[in-house]
Formats: sequence, C-alpha cells, structure tokens
Amino acid sequence: MSLAAYEPGRDCPLCPRLVEFRERNRERLPGCFNAPVPSFGPVDARVLIVGLAPGLKGANCTGRPFTGDYAGDLLYDTLPRYGFARGRYLGRPDDGFELVDCRIVNGVRCVPPENKPTGAEIKTCRQFLVPAIAEMENLRVVVMMGRIAHDTGLTALGLRRGDFPFGHNARHEAGRFVIRDTYHCSRYNTQTGRLTPEMFQAVFAGVRADLGVDET
Ligand code: SF4
Repeated sequence: MSLAAYEPGRDCPLCPRLVEFRERNRERLPGCFNAPVPSFGPVDARVLIVGLAPGLKGANCTGRPFTGDYAGDLLYDTLPRYGFARGRYLGRPDDGFELVDCRIVNGVRCVPPENKPTGAEIKTCRQFLVPAIAEMENLRVVVMMGRIAHDTGLTALGLRRGDFPFGHNARHEAGRFVIRDTYHCSRYNTQTGRLTPEMFQAVFAGVRADLGVDET
C-alpha cells in the first residue's frame, strides 16, 4: 500500500520523546508495527473519526487504528451497526474488516508513553492531521474521540475551541461540517461506566441521521 505524500514516514523524527519510545519498542516488541500509524478507511468517506494516539499493544502493534486493543472492540462492534463497516473484526490488520463511508485518523500518529502525548507532540503531529482532513473532499461529519481529539481536530479544521465546547454526544455545526463528540471508548471509560455501549451507539446513530438529513 503506498502512503499519501502527507503521511509521516516510518522513522518520522519530529517528536524526540516519541522517537525514543519507538526505538525502545522496536527492541522489546520486535513483532509489532512500531511506527506512525496510517489512516484507515476510504479517502472519499463522508465521516471521519479523529482518535487520540495508537495504543501500545493495539494500533502500535497491528499498524491499524484501534485494532487489537479494548477500545477497538467497542468501536468495531459499533460501526457495522450503523453501516460504517463490514466484515468480521478479528483484531488483526489482515482480518478483511473494512470501513464504509468512514475513515479513522489519529491526532498523534506515534504511540506515546502512558497513552499521554504532550501538547507539543499533539501540535507537531497536527501537520499530518490537517492535510489528512483536507484530502477528504466529501467530508461531512467529524467525530472527535475524546477531548484531546476534539481540541486538535477543531484546530486542524481552523475552528476556535471556545465556540464548540466538548461534551459527550454534543453536536455542532461548522460550515459544511457537523462535529460530533464522544467520550473515548477506552477501557478506563467503559469499565468505569463513564461510557456505556448505548451511549457510544447513540453517537453513531446521530452520525447516520446527519448523513440522512444531508441526502434529502
Ligand atoms: S507523533 Fe507525528 S509528528 Fe511526532 S514523530 Fe510521530 S508521526 Fe512524527
């Protein structure tokens, strides 16, 4: 698979802390992807999900966003229910699972220690998020997966954060885009009950409704 020109290379040197972590992971997890994780899904999709960053044993290992860890189990159980994916999700990049009219990109492409990118890393990696969004000519709905994704996604879209406060299942209109927020489908959020499957499904039911309205 050839990567678009704006995708970072496997050895992107721009975030020293993440580069160091990447090098360590290449030694201790040699079977893993251990590189900036590319976008997943068709570029002509109308829906974009902006994630935070790869999980160490999930996307960092498999090379596909949300694949192989707990967050992916809920996300990839939910998307097919609303027509945004097809196939059987098996937590592996070769499982044949496909996104439909939906694309996923992480705001930070490299796995950060403790799942926590710094503000500087988020800002640096936005140079890849901006063109990834701009390339989607049919984009209509942007789903922000958690507050950090919400903030960097808004900035990437050229929008002021203060105009669009984050809240679970909040819906904002911004020009030709609809912005929808959700709590991140992390293990912590689901196991503490902050995010239930029903709450998560409600977000994507809303996205489907947004597209339906768009088509009439
Ligand atoms: S997080 Fe983004 S900008 Fe930073 S090293 Fe990785 S790909 Fe490069």
